[in-house]
Amino acid sequence: MSTPNGHTTTVAAAASLRRVFRGTFVHSTPHAPLEILRDALLGVDTEGKIAFIERGRDLDAVCESHGLDSSDVTHLEQHEFFMPGMVDTHIHASQYSYAGTALDVPLLQWLNLYTFPAEARFKDLSFAHTVYSHVVKRTLRNGTTTACYFATIHTEASLLLGKIANDLGQRALVGKVCMDSNDAVSHYKESTQESYQETCRFIGELLERKYPLVKPVVTPRFAVSCSGTLLGQLGEIARNNDLHIQSHVSENLEEVQLVKELFPDSQSYTDVYHKHNLLTDKTVMAHGCYLSDEELTLFRETGASVSHCPNSNISLCSGMLDVRNVLKHRVKIGLGTDVAGGYSASMLDAVRRTLDTSKALTIQDPQHHTLTFEEVFRLATLGGSQALALDHEIGNFEVGKDFDALRVNVAVAGGPIDLIQHEEEPKILLEKFLNLGDDRNIVEVYVSGRMVVPLSQQPQDTE
Ligand SMILES: [Zn+2]
Repeated sequence: MSTPNGHTTTVAAAASLRRVFRGTFVHSTPHAPLEILRDALLGVDTEGKIAFIERGRDLDAVCESHGLDSSDVTHLEQHEFFMPGMVDTHIHASQYSYAGTALDVPLLQWLNLYTFPAEARFKDLSFAHTVYSHVVKRTLRNGTTTACYFATIHTEASLLLGKIANDLGQRALVGKVCMDSNDAVSHYKESTQESYQETCRFIGELLERKYPLVKPVVTPRFAVSCSGTLLGQLGEIARNNDLHIQSHVSENLEEVQLVKELFPDSQSYTDVYHKHNLLTDKTVMAHGCYLSDEELTLFRETGASVSHCPNSNISLCSGMLDVRNVLKHRVKIGLGTDVAGGYSASMLDAVRRTLDTSKALTIQDPQHHTLTFEEVFRLATLGGSQALALDHEIGNFEVGKDFDALRVNVAVAGGPIDLIQHEEEPKILLEKFLNLGDDRNIVEVYVSGRMVVPLSQQPQDTE
């Protein structure tokens, strides 16, 4: 047996391995929302990539071929499994400061009343440090191995968020927010030129730091907050540097109407972004509750994706996205917490709210085809990686991908789940975890093969 990376001698192969696990692995593939690998052996190499997946009963042969001792293998307990790390495709790190409050008004008022004043505080780097450290730690502990973050308009604080994600070992896309139109809170906006220049500086400085898992993302807040000139400039920056893009689209009816008035030459909200070269296969747009079939077709044609943020959509009474219709249009889609419009930073909450919204749509229309928990599991993992155009690196357990994974113990002592029957069935364990579990069940988190939770373990195994 030879390893996938071509080592033929046992000495070289052993030297290239970092960890080997034996137990149950659950993940999604493009063809199956849930695939269960029972009694599997998974090896992780020193670069954090999955080196092999073999059968547990072949342990002796695998050990021999890789020059391993069987004591090098970590065995999962009876009620444990590994699943891929979850991908939060839309979260405002800066809004974590008021998460769990301020959910009493609709979107446009909410921005003026709570969000802009809160984000303006990030000029103060020590405040930024406090909030950003908390949000990265909290999301990591809750199993978010990749987060696509909005920061604020402040370049220094946005760079600090990149540093904190890097230091704590989270994979992240970090966006300095751009907005040159804001009549409500005059001290929280930039001139068009400033926004352009500071975006260039942010991208240049973040890339210069060469953080292996942190990338910049071009971030126009949304069409309401940006002039056409700025949108066009941001589209250019993204294209010239092959960068990710994130924004919001079609979240709430009042906003959709406002965009129509602000951009009368565009055929739709989606068309505003398309006209400014902001829809690419590295674009993720949050919400999309009111996208027409024509707009979804434009998403598919450009390769742009949707981030479904159900907690936020319900909390701000914005709307209910029909995920089934998005899937029918073959548009890439992942889940987002949208802190703090969504009050929870946990992707497990996003999973539950996605199921709730799908069931609410079925209550309204019994013909609606409700999402299954397996499908929602895929949205939280592989779907998210596709939405962020990172599915060649992460999203499931495939040889050659990075090992971003959660070690879940459904029966952890003092945890939230009582196991009474079907205790050894992995599908039941996964369903119970998704519906009833919390961070106590997530006993270890790995990003690119490095253990990043428990947080007290850090920095660990940096080799
Ligand atoms: Zn948002």
